[in-house]
Amino acid sequence: MNTEKATNLIDMRTSNALLILNIIRKAPCSRASIAKMTGLSRSAVTIIIDHLMQQGMVEETQTSQNGTGRKALDLKICKNAGYTIGVHLRSQMYTIGVFNLEGELLQAESNDYHKDFLPEAQLESIGSHIVQLIQSQGIEAKKVLGVGICASGPVDVQAGKVIRSSSVWHEVEICQRLSSLLHWNCFLENRSNARAVYEKLYGKCKEYSSFIFFKVDESVGGAIVYKDEVLSGYRRFGNEFGHISIKHDGKRCECGNFGCLDMYASIPAILKQFPQIAGDSWKSIVDEAYDGNPVAIQAIKQEADYISTGIVNLCNIFEPEAIALAGDITYRPNLLMALISEDVSERHILREVFNSKIILADQIDHINLRSAAALVVEEFYQGKINFI
Ligand SMILES: [Zn+2]
Repeated sequence: MNTEKATNLIDMRTSNALLILNIIRKAPCSRASIAKMTGLSRSAVTIIIDHLMQQGMVEETQTSQNGTGRKALDLKICKNAGYTIGVHLRSQMYTIGVFNLEGELLQAESNDYHKDFLPEAQLESIGSHIVQLIQSQGIEAKKVLGVGICASGPVDVQAGKVIRSSSVWHEVEICQRLSSLLHWNCFLENRSNARAVYEKLYGKCKEYSSFIFFKVDESVGGAIVYKDEVLSGYRRFGNEFGHISIKHDGKRCECGNFGCLDMYASIPAILKQFPQIAGDSWKSIVDEAYDGNPVAIQAIKQEADYISTGIVNLCNIFEPEAIALAGDITYRPNLLMALISEDVSERHILREVFNSKIILADQIDHINLRSAAALVVEEFYQGKINFI
């Protein structure tokens, strides 16, 4: 009985500590504000904060003013309390990077895969490379929270495997193998879902709890974040935005459906529809449109129409606060974004009160690597990594 009670108390303290960490990770905050937001007593907050400060998780900073005009001590996360590793598995090479808790990239390195690719041997090399990186940064192994890995999907998140017959990593138990080599937790996600996690934690969508990440380049993809959770289906194979049908009587897609968005709105698809435009990229269409070429302007209008159709379908179901665009379509995006905003607001079921914002997702270097590392941070703040 006593043991059970003690366990419950420990669980409660941990969950209250996580609650507090999740408040101050978004913005520094005073003890009084934390008590107000959590409903915990001032003394309970003080005890938990003292514990977190002793562990080096939290530190004080002078940023806010209290009611008397005097400076109050706010609390913030110690950015060097823990570190994460990001791994981006590409078709012929990989990139690894080490990050602090604020998501700052400390060092990144890339390598080609072995010429004679063998998954086991390649994972051992990646593991050794990660250890070297950590050592070169002078980081203690116990301060590493885990390894986040992202790859082109589909991926089986539970099994830590890529399920894609064209990938060299197809059916390889990446997480299990790397975890047994490194003795850290490993998490695998597809690039779009990982990117949504990054946007939620560090990117332009930090202020939203429900948003859609929507990417158009060689293909159409994305992810849905609803009330701070990435929605991806019961086996986590969802979020295949490219296969939303926008023409039920259209051509058959290789996925089995008809008239999929990807067949019309991906950059190769839109280029094929406007062969009069010189150049072989979205950039060439946009540059010509801004030079006044009417065909290029028409191509942008057409692309906006396709994308809007996909977005309206999603908005009618999820009612996001924002839709964050990413990929090639974000090149000189003003015209395209204005057209999409107009289209979406006119075609939405709640058009009278529609106020979802069309914004640009974060545009920063090493975005896939950052997204991979963000997977670890997400697990940490959800209390799924035993660190505090
Ligand atoms: Zn399809």
